[in-house]
Amino acid sequence: MTMSVAAWMAAQVLVAAVAFGCLWRASVSAEPSVNSAHQWLATVAIVWGGSFAVGEALPGHGLAASLTIGGLLALAALAVLCAAVAALARASQPPSPAAGRPLGRGAGPALTQLADGCLVALALFVVGWAAFYGSAYHKAGVSAGGFALDLLHPVTDLVLLGAIMAYLGASWRRSLLPWLALLAVTLADSLAAPARISGVRPGLGTELAQLAALALLAACALPRDRVDRLLAAARASRAWPGASTATAAAATVAAALTTIGWAAGGGSVTDPVVVITGGLAALVLVARVAGVAWYERAATQAWQESGRAFLELAERTSDVVVLCDLAAIVRYASPAVARFGYRPEAIEGTPLSALIHPEDRLRGARVIRSATLGPPGQTTHFSCRIRSADGTWHHLESSLARYREAGGDNLLITARDVSDQVALRRQVTHLTFHDGLTGLPNRAYIEERAKSAAQRAAAGRAQGAQDAAIFIDLDGFTGVNDSVGHGAGDLLLAQAARRLRNVVPAQHTVARWGGDEFAVLVESGANAQETVDIAERLAGAIAGEPFRVAGRDISLTGSIGVALAGSNPPEHLLRNADVAMARAKVAGGRVEIFNAQMHADVVRRLELASELRRAITDEELELEYQPVVELATSRVVGVEALVRWTSGETVVPPAEFLSVAEESGLIGALGEQVLRAACAQAAAWHASGWPTGISVNFSLRQVSREGFADLVLGVLAETGLPPAALTLEVTERVLVDGAAVIVDALARLRRHGVRLAIDDFGTGYASLAYLRQLPVDIIKIDPSFVAGLGTDATLAMLTATIVRVGRDLGIAVVAEGIEQPEQLEMLRGMGCGLGQGFLVARPMGARGIEVFAGPMPGGTAGEPVPEAVAAPEAAAAG
Ligand code: C2E
Ligand code: CA
Ligand code: CA
Repeated sequence: MTMSVAAWMAAQVLVAAVAFGCLWRASVSAEPSVNSAHQWLATVAIVWGGSFAVGEALPGHGLAASLTIGGLLALAALAVLCAAVAALARASQPPSPAAGRPLGRGAGPALTQLADGCLVALALFVVGWAAFYGSAYHKAGVSAGGFALDLLHPVTDLVLLGAIMAYLGASWRRSLLPWLALLAVTLADSLAAPARISGVRPGLGTELAQLAALALLAACALPRDRVDRLLAAARASRAWPGASTATAAAATVAAALTTIGWAAGGGSVTDPVVVITGGLAALVLVARVAGVAWYERAATQAWQESGRAFLELAERTSDVVVLCDLAAIVRYASPAVARFGYRPEAIEGTPLSALIHPEDRLRGARVIRSATLGPPGQTTHFSCRIRSADGTWHHLESSLARYREAGGDNLLITARDVSDQVALRRQVTHLTFHDGLTGLPNRAYIEERAKSAAQRAAAGRAQGAQDAAIFIDLDGFTGVNDSVGHGAGDLLLAQAARRLRNVVPAQHTVARWGGDEFAVLVESGANAQETVDIAERLAGAIAGEPFRVAGRDISLTGSIGVALAGSNPPEHLLRNADVAMARAKVAGGRVEIFNAQMHADVVRRLELASELRRAITDEELELEYQPVVELATSRVVGVEALVRWTSGETVVPPAEFLSVAEESGLIGALGEQVLRAACAQAAAWHASGWPTGISVNFSLRQVSREGFADLVLGVLAETGLPPAALTLEVTERVLVDGAAVIVDALARLRRHGVRLAIDDFGTGYASLAYLRQLPVDIIKIDPSFVAGLGTDATLAMLTATIVRVGRDLGIAVVAEGIEQPEQLEMLRGMGCGLGQGFLVARPMGARGIEVFAGPMPGGTAGEPVPEAVAAPEAAAAG
């Protein structure tokens, strides 16, 4: 063994060992799917290394060299290499039914692959024969069979090289390196063939090719991203369909040319090897062509079959199926188009756009374009209106996709008539956002609308435009319901809604807020003056002429609140208009415009109400008593109970918390507490020997409450106060507005001996004529009359008249608010029996008032009030 032989052997074994090591390590760290492939490649490396070294050390002689153990092992290693390449290719395919098939196309890919491999091998063999096998054969003088056996290695290499070439198309990144390794071995085996026949050592070319093969195997162990980077430069098409077929065809052409060249150059065409190889190539080629023809036929049949299935499906489905060409001209329409009044044949040739609603056309054109340009199989959805034969419009939901047919590309459209659903949806929306009684939009609608107007304003659009809201409440509508019934009340609301809608320009929203309240959203374009004009017109629409329902004319007025967006946050528009309306209602004016103070008032009153509720529960309210005196004698004949509330440190004026109590309904509980405390106090005074009368104030709301008379009688019984000692003070409104039930309740109490006083007489609409409806015991002349005594002759005359009429009717008269001695003098002169006022005595606590009591336990009777002038006269009160 020479030094160079030993060196080559050492080099081959070393490179093989390195390749083995690298591949084995990669098999442990790599993805599981390629683990075994790397192990197989490692095995191939070690077998190749061994057989190359043996070939180096013991160059075989002819024939036998192919059949040594090393030779056979090298052949087996080829099979292992192919399996490894197949596994690598499979690992990089997406998991699909076709996964693992190299060029998964139709039937028999394995056969196709083998045929292409054979064609490549045979063709390259012919070329190789012309290049150097032929001359080696002639020189060696061995039999054809023996020579063929010697060519076993290179030919097997060639066949497998062609066969696994298909995997290059499927996943070239993974199969390229093993394939190149096989190419190097093929080269080495081809170069070694003549040397083997001659029994000499393989030449330098063979040795280098073998080393290259081992190095390429080792490179297979490189991590994938490194391989990717290395191969980035040699970027080729990912998909490489028919690569093996193309290579086989090119190789066959090269073989044919070589054969012609060989014959023309004087070589023997009848040379058996060339004849057999050429014949085989032709046979394989014929088989391959037959396979292609068969495949084409099967494909055409499949097309036709799927076309038939498509038609059958299209004819049966209730959806409309339309095929258009890529210019959107209808080529086929399914019988379901009959539901739009069309015959299928009649609309073939019609452009799709002619059927689509003009407003949907632009969108439609866009969708069609994107469907025709998009990849086949991608579905686009589109809703539009379609004209039917009778000119009506139908709502369709459709899906579009490119559809490939033997004749070319089409647009496949399937569509469903959803007109019924659309109509239903509209109806539901209408019901959700409209008021059934008036047909106007409802509260939900106008709130939504106001919200989006606010968003528009916030976004800075609608510049310069004033949005405004108007609230309208019908005054006294509850009374209408009570007097003519709810049915007629509904009718009146519907009439009111029509009137309101008629006076508001169409671009603004008029809605029913609920009950007898309506709201108007004045939108962009109206300035403050126009808004107020609209509000005035709304007021006129309600008050202008009476409503005619249930055969009666009913006159109503409306309280109207206006909120302008200018100075208020737009999202509070409706709420502010509501606040302004409440103010209009209280103020009695027709139109109120919201200002920020109103909202603060509302908040304060709400807070006050909740504090008052607590104060009532905790019995924090107190009573003061103001004496009522006999003017002639200055003797105290009774006291008026007046409620007081100190919330924390602050004294809340009665007018303020009483109106809150009225509004919130707390007045019921409050009044009950006052009545009970006042009666208990009076009863205590009676028990102590001072049989004073006591007056308690009641509002309309209090006396209207069910069971009012029972409550009063109950408290009297509880406290043991004689009914005649109690005077109920009610205002004139009770007589004017009071329903029959109130009059009945008060009359019943009077029959029990309870006395009735009309408070603040002269301020309302009451005239003495009302007194016939409900007999009263006392009238209290309002302080505004007394204040005018001595300065206003008319007031003096009116006061004198009230005093005289009272006396004539046998009703006691109390003058309230006496502050000046002259007033007292004049009242005495008029013959007014009783009086009350700061001049006589201020309201004070029970302890203070007892000074005027008599006879007190251990005290003297009837202390006269200091200012009073003695003139004994029978008192009516007490
Ligand atoms: P009213 O029934 O007219 O009560 C008389 C009011 O006039 C009291 O005011 C009293 O302090 C005040 N007053 C008495 N003399 C004079 C005077 O010489 N000059 C002036 N300027 N005022 C005088 P107050 O206590 O603020 O009560 C106001 C109103 O609150 C009462 O008017 C009454 O209508 C109502 N009220 C008071 N207590 C109750 C109650 O317990 N229940 C109900 N429902 N209302 C009450
Ligand atoms: Ca009073
Ligand atoms: Ca009064």
